[in-house]
Amino acid sequence: MKTDIEISQSADLVNINDIASQLNIGINEYEPYGKYKAKLNLPFKGEKNGKLILVTSINPTAAGEGKTTLTIGLGDAFHRINQSCAIALREPSLGPVMGIKGGATGGGYSQVAPMEDINLFFTGDFPAITEAHDTLSALIDNHIHHGNKLNIDPRTITWKRVVDINDRELRKVVIGLGGRTSGVPREDGFDITVASEIMAVLCLSEDLADLKNKLGKILIGYNYDREPVTVNDLGVTGALALLLKDAIKPNLVQTLEHTPAFIHGGPFANIAHGCNSILATKAAMQHADYAITEAGFGADLGGEKFLDITSKKLGHRPDAIVIVATVRALKLNGGVNKNDLDEENVDALLAGAKNLGRHIANMKQYNKPVVVAINEFSSDTEKEINALNDYITKQGVKPFNTTVWENGGAGATDLANELVKLCENNDEFKPLYEDDDEFMVKLESIVTKIYHGKNVVLSAKAKRQLKTMEKYGWDKLPICVAKTQYSFSDDAKQLGAPEDFTINVSELQPKLGAGFIVALTGKILTMPGLPSHPAALNMDIDNDGKITGLF
Ligand code: ADP
Ligand code: MG
Repeated sequence: MKTDIEISQSADLVNINDIASQLNIGINEYEPYGKYKAKLNLPFKGEKNGKLILVTSINPTAAGEGKTTLTIGLGDAFHRINQSCAIALREPSLGPVMGIKGGATGGGYSQVAPMEDINLFFTGDFPAITEAHDTLSALIDNHIHHGNKLNIDPRTITWKRVVDINDRELRKVVIGLGGRTSGVPREDGFDITVASEIMAVLCLSEDLADLKNKLGKILIGYNYDREPVTVNDLGVTGALALLLKDAIKPNLVQTLEHTPAFIHGGPFANIAHGCNSILATKAAMQHADYAITEAGFGADLGGEKFLDITSKKLGHRPDAIVIVATVRALKLNGGVNKNDLDEENVDALLAGAKNLGRHIANMKQYNKPVVVAINEFSSDTEKEINALNDYITKQGVKPFNTTVWENGGAGATDLANELVKLCENNDEFKPLYEDDDEFMVKLESIVTKIYHGKNVVLSAKAKRQLKTMEKYGWDKLPICVAKTQYSFSDDAKQLGAPEDFTINVSELQPKLGAGFIVALTGKILTMPGLPSHPAALNMDIDNDGKITGLF
């Protein structure tokens, strides 16, 4: 059996010019980055108004669900049924690439390529975002060092530093040690780049002007009179925007079957809003009849955030929603040990299927068509697949057995045909909460209607922060919950469909540039750590530049 990188390396890719011309993107509308990558110039010229399909899933497990793989295979399936289609995906973060996950460019015969580029530095967007973020950090400390005209209280600075590496040692640091010439000492910390507000700002911006507007509004902390201080106050909005002048342009690549894919931006869905840039999704919709995008982690995180935050800012709600499920992950949700997932166990599968059942009911609340894609693994048995099909049908939605990992686009043509029909609906999208709902009403809507917890409790700190937000009117912004991806609750160990739990909010962070409030729940961390056997241990490159172990 070939590994993902072996399949990718033996694929016959076409020149990126052919991918652009497939989408009727003129030669002057993009800039090639080598033979297989390009950046699309802004503003785009495409005039289509393609349908939008959202791919989401059950709660992820160590068994792997395959949203990215399915998204890519589904794009290829649309091509096989002769529909014009473009995929929009996030760029992988180096943290998980080196950590637990390996690549995030699909798998088997459903991959985007060149995977070794996309998984590493690609076209330099993440480094640019990291540098822009840390430039702001340096400018804040420099401002304080040189007299602190804005009267910034260093103890209230909320703007941390970032690096795109899982590095737990950096979560809390003290900076500015070394005497007068080395700045003003203060407590600081690092987040991973994908949790940076600049990542969110880039992903939610419509153009350079909008990017600047959002960057300028970013809150960096407070002065000694407890008034907010923003990037505009520091006078560095222009500098930050110019560092992002290329990063804001969506990247174009191809799948192994030559379907166009825009890969751009990469916020995590547990600690950030979890979807590729609005510009990438727009690029896909303006140049193809069908755009397919993936929201990170489960439908309780990336799915909810795409539906309540991103698609609103995009100005286009999904025309259909696909929930990806696997027999393996549901068995794990049903209590089977990680090492025993290859054994047939219909009872555990049906016990774990409650997790899927809840996600189906949740997604139906938005009043758009929902289907389930069963991403088949070779270990699935016929009995298990049949039982799962029955279960899904009983929930009032159609199941589709897909095999894109093994067969590429041929493994999802039934699903693609169904989605063509479903996308013709005129159903009116029903949001989970209204814009002018009170902050606690919005939060309780998410907790009770999506997580199915009984209530939500704010810590003393979060209550104080809510007061500040009310004072400045920030409490009207949508809410981006930071929560473990493994459970509906804020406790990673409660699998399946837990009930009667309380969601504990430790902190509220106003992200005024991105335009949402992050609510940190449970023990969620915005800087992950590496596991005991990081994926990095398997990686190598030989003298000819041939890469192994990237996945
Ligand atoms: P997600 O986007 O949900 O995190 P991915 O699509 O990245 O999941 O898949 C996670 C891993 O599982 C990848 O390494 C992928 O190759 C693998 N995978 C996905 N689907 C299958 C399948 N049907 N059979 C075997 N491996 C699969
Ligand atoms: Mg993915």
